[in-house]
Formats: sequence, structure tokens, C-alpha cells
Amino acid sequence: MEKSAAKQRIEELRNLLWEYSRKYYVESAPVISDFEFDALMRELEDLEKAWPEFQSPDSPTQKVGSDLEDVPVQGFIQRPHRYPMLSLANTYSRSEIEEFAARAVKGLEGRSFNWCCELKFDGTAICLSYRHGKLVQALTRGDGQMGDDVTANVRKIANIPQQLHGDYPDDFEIRGEVLMPYASFDALNRQRELEEEQPFANPRNAASGSLKLSDPKEVARRGLYCILYHIPAQSVSDDLAASHYELLRKAASWGLPVSEYNRLCSDIHQIEAYIDEWNEKRKSLPYATDGIVLKINELDAQRELGYTAKSPRWAVAYKFKAEQALTRIRSIDYQVGRTGAVTPVANLDPVLLAGTVVKRATLNNADQIALLDIRIGDNVFVEKGGEIIPKITGVDIASRPADAHPPVFPCECPDCHTPLVKADGEAKWFCPNTDGCPMQIKGKLLHFMSRKAMNILAGDATVDQLYNLGLAHTPADLYDLTTWQLLSIDGWKEKSAKRFLDSLRESISVPFERVLFALGIRYVGEQTAKEIARHFGNIDAIAAASLEELAQVKDVGDVIAQSIFDYMADARHSIEIQRLRAHGIRFSVEQQLGRLSDTLEGQTVVVSGNFSISRDSLKELVERHGGKCSGSVSSKTSFLLAGSKPGPEKIKKCQELGIRIVSEDEFWGLLPEDSRIDRSAETEPTLF
Ligand code: NAD
Repeated sequence: MEKSAAKQRIEELRNLLWEYSRKYYVESAPVISDFEFDALMRELEDLEKAWPEFQSPDSPTQKVGSDLEDVPVQGFIQRPHRYPMLSLANTYSRSEIEEFAARAVKGLEGRSFNWCCELKFDGTAICLSYRHGKLVQALTRGDGQMGDDVTANVRKIANIPQQLHGDYPDDFEIRGEVLMPYASFDALNRQRELEEEQPFANPRNAASGSLKLSDPKEVARRGLYCILYHIPAQSVSDDLAASHYELLRKAASWGLPVSEYNRLCSDIHQIEAYIDEWNEKRKSLPYATDGIVLKINELDAQRELGYTAKSPRWAVAYKFKAEQALTRIRSIDYQVGRTGAVTPVANLDPVLLAGTVVKRATLNNADQIALLDIRIGDNVFVEKGGEIIPKITGVDIASRPADAHPPVFPCECPDCHTPLVKADGEAKWFCPNTDGCPMQIKGKLLHFMSRKAMNILAGDATVDQLYNLGLAHTPADLYDLTTWQLLSIDGWKEKSAKRFLDSLRESISVPFERVLFALGIRYVGEQTAKEIARHFGNIDAIAAASLEELAQVKDVGDVIAQSIFDYMADARHSIEIQRLRAHGIRFSVEQQLGRLSDTLEGQTVVVSGNFSISRDSLKELVERHGGKCSGSVSSKTSFLLAGSKPGPEKIKKCQELGIRIVSEDEFWGLLPEDSRIDRSAETEPTLF
């Protein structure tokens, strides 16, 4: 590969991996399978090894995936980890496990050591601190350095003890995984479907989503479960135990939940036997596992091997490939999404897969049907990737029945019968009847109301009713609805009508960036909407922007710029925006940034370093308290707000000019008391 091509691919992979990680950790909504993600990560690692000049400490290969929001919205306080909370090196290849074991034997020359083999629990990582035998803190992994303080929620997990017994150390940490057992997961998703809420994609997402709930009582109802697997050796005295296995045994004796399936192995044959045994047995466990973890057991050997930036050198995960099931395709439906894209979805003979019964699977597009040579009546392999709907990954050609027949991809929209179109370079067919196709209209309404957009309490059934009765075709119609109209709909009672209208009223204070996302402009996802809102500040500036100006926004390329431009040029959209604006929906950033106080009036503040909340949020806060922010230190600077690792040049300049340096704690002290509480009460998700 040429150097320039390698550089371009490295950049492309980094961008892709960041975006996939954000979807996975922050939104709990992965869009590709772990196997595909790990293959991209491996490709990046290999390229960075081959081209060391392009290595960077900011590459995803060097960072632990973060569950922290860019801008914390749920009011969890972020706290530093005493010891970094890292990830694990992983592989799907048995021969790489053998190589890892052989390297360890060689590296620890002449020393005898054992392996501790453990199940790899598929939940969300947690770090518990116990002081004087009492649970005092629980942090998520976060970005490995800082985690969200979820102590109140963790106290509601039934098998985590609040009080230890026996000869526990006075002050120590223990780490493990919070899981949602399949039974709780199924019950939760059933409930969510009843309440017309989006079901969770898998138990891992459900566990991490549940830990970040704002109401601990709701967490208690989620049926979470915890298994602990690691006490950082630094957190306890050397004479407590000589091995990892022994430490965990002690933890179990203090009442902590430790897996009963850990096993000491002395060589690769025993390790392989453990892998084979659990590859089968795990299918009957009540919770999800996605591999096994192999750890060198002796703590002095672990200390000697140490850590890379991302993972310990003394452990590796062997990941099981996603479980597959074989089942028959009964028929294929063609679904039209809100953008008009037509997706084939297969109806299957129901089959049990990774703890849930699967009846439908996506086929993505016509090309994929052709590529896999899929026919109706075929027996196909189904796998769960990141998505809620599983994927068909192959056909069992050997068992193809004589009457299996290729599906005929429709040439017109299955809903409004408009001829489908396919643009150059697109894999999907589209229904071009954007504003007239019922499926697209309903899809757009659903998107507008979704949680990450306007958060209006309604689902498919409500949208169907409103659309079919001619009560709502566009988002602005929703705000014209009256109690009387709602009560005239079958099944609606005063309580449900009030709940719906209340949530519409509350949606009026949703910040501009989410409103922009809610409009459903093609390719404008949540993150892009945020960037565009920050860049232009209001909808009029976006509507007036040229293609070139739009393309200057971070993350916006030519295709997205064109899509925004076309959207804004359409008179129907201008009218819709005007109607929404008349209902008080926020179409500018200023509208959402109310003054909190005049404390910083006339002061110019430079913000530098890392803080417990994002830098952008702090800057917004300075402005909401009357101050101005500047990017560089000058004689006009009132003070430098310095977090951890502030820019050394800025510090030097402050020292030269005699400018005050204020720490984050001091800064909170400057603001009026209860300012934090005020802020969270303000339903200002851009800030907290
Ligand atoms: P990981 O899940 O591969 O492994 C590390 C984690 O395993 C630890 O942090 C710990 O939480 C957990 N674990 C479970 N049992 C354990 C045990 N017995 N001992 C020690 N640790 C144990 O790594 P990760 O950093 O949490 O996530 C990275 C992985 O997540 C990627 O390799 C990929 O598979 C997946 N991912 C997928 C997507 C996607 O879009 N599908 C995106 C980002 C990440």
C-alpha cells in the first residue's frame, strides 16, 4: 500500500471507529457487530504498526472506549478512577491464544505460573469501593480515567452487598460486570413494547442503559445482577494474597459475588478444554457471555508484565463468534423507512438465538440478497449483530428445497406505489415520494417524537392512529392537537391524552440541536446536528448558508451539505419550520441559554485542561453567568480556569502577566450557591 493511501485509510478507520464507539458506548445503540468492529480495529492496528510515523496517542487503538457523554446530560458526577480501568486485548483466533500463552511462558522464563480462566461476562464494567466494609462508591468505566458516579443506582442491585463481613481490608476497590439476565431483559423489552418505547438491542445495552437511569427505584425494578472479577493488586496490601484466584476467593468470603466458574489451568491443553467446555455450556447460562478471559494468576508476574495504554499485558480475551441459528425463510417484506429507503426483511420460522426467539431478520438491500443468493424457502444462518433485528449471514445451500424461489424486489413502493429509484453509488432503492408516502410520513413523525429528538411519549400505534384519522401528517400538526380530538380516538382516555399533551408541551424546551436532529434531514444525525447548531447558532443562518459554508462545519462533507441545502430550499419545509416556530419550538441556540446570574459580568475567562464536565459546557456556563470566553491568554484575561493538564503555554503566560489561575473547585465556589442544582433543574440538556 502506498504511504498516502495508508494515511487516508488510517484516518478513515479512526473516524469510523470513533463513530461506532460513540453509538455503542454513549447511545447504547451499536450499528455493526462486535466481530466487524474488532476486524476494523485490527486493520487499524496493523496499519499503525506498518506505518509508525502515523501512530498517535489519540488513536482508538490507544484509548479505552468511553461511556461518558460528550456533554453529560443526566447529571451524573464524573470522578477519577484511583487506578485506570482498562480494556482487554482480544482475539477470535485459537492460534493467537496459543501464541499468547507461549509468549508468556517465554517472557516469564523459568518461573512457574498458572492461568486463571474466567468467563467473559457481557455487561457493563463497574468499579466498587468499600471503606470500613461499607460500599461507598460505584463508578462506571467511563473513559478509563474518569467514570460516572452511579453509586445510588448500584445500591439497588440486589446481589451487591452494602456491608461486607469477615476479614476484609479496610479500604479497597473491586471491579466486575453489571449484567441484565435474559429473563429480566425479556420482561423489560415486553414492557417497553407495551409502552411503545424502543426495545433494547441486547442485554448489554439494557444493563448499561439501566445503570444510567436517573431514578434508582426504576433501577431496582430492572433486575440487574453483578459478578466481580478483579481486585487491583495496588489497592490491597501485598501480604493479603499472592494470586488473583486467591484474592477473588477472599472477596467471595467477604460476601462479594464472584463467579463460581473460574478455573486454574496450568497449560494450554487445560485452557483449550475450558474454552471448548464453555463455548457450549454458556448457552444454558441465564445471562450473556461473549468469550473467556485468560489471566496470568500470580500477582508478582502480573506486576512484572504491567500494562499497555489500553490493556493489561497479563490477560487476553478469547471472544466467541456471535451465536448462529439455522432457520427457514417463510417470506420477505419490503419496509419503507422515513428517508424512503426500502429494506427487505425476512419472516422466519421462529428460532431461539442467544436467549431470545427470533422471527425476523434484515437483508439490508437487493445487492445482498443477490450476493448471498437467498431464496424464499431457503434454510439460512441468522446472527445477532449490533442491531435489534438479526442479520442473515448465509444460506445452507445443501438443504435448499426444490421449490425455493428467488424473491422479486419490487419496482414500486410497497406502500404508495410510486416507482422506486436508485441513485449512483447507493446500495438501496428509494421511494422518491418523500412528502406523500404514508410510511415515510409516519416514519418522520416517529423520528421527530423519538427520545433523542423531541422526546414525545408515543409510538407506532399512536402515530398510525393520528395519521389514519388525518389528525397529523407533519410534526407541526402534533402541536395543533386538542384534548377533544384525542378523546375522540378509539382507546384514548383523559389520562393518556393529558400525558401526551404534557409531553408535547415539555418538548417546547428541547434545545435547538435536538430540534435540528428531529427535523429528520437526511444524513443529519445527532452529532452532526450538534455541530451544525453550534456553528450557525440558528435556523435562519442555516437556511441562508451556501453549500460551501455548510461544508465548513465539522463532520459535514459535500453530501451532507447538499442534503441540508436541498432541505432548506424546499418551500414546504420553510412553512413547516415557521409553524413549529409559532408553537414556541426552539430554533436558535440563544433561545435556550437563559442567564443564570451576573456573577462573571465583564470578565473574560480562558478555559484550559480537563474537567469533571466538558469544556464546552463550562464555557457555556461562564457565558450564562455573564462572562465571556476567549481562546488565548492576554492582558485582558480576567482569569484562567484550569482543569487537570492545562496548556503549559497558557500557564506560563498567566505567570508572566500575573493573571489569576482558578481551579475547577474554586470556580464552582465563585458561582452562586446551588448553581449546579439550578442548572440541572433547568432541563437544559446541552449543559447537563
Ligand atoms: P471488551 O468487552 O472486549 O473486553 C473488556 C471488558 O470485558 C472489560 O472492560 C470488562 O468490562 C469485561 N469483562 C467481562 N468479564 C471479564 C472478566 N472475567 N475479567 C476481566 N474483564 C471482563 O472490551 P471493551 O473495551 O469493553 O469494549 C471493546 C469491545 O466492544 C470491542 O472489542 C468490540 O467488540 C465492542 N465494541 C463494539 C462496537 C460495535 O459497534 N459493535 C463498538 C465499540 C466497541
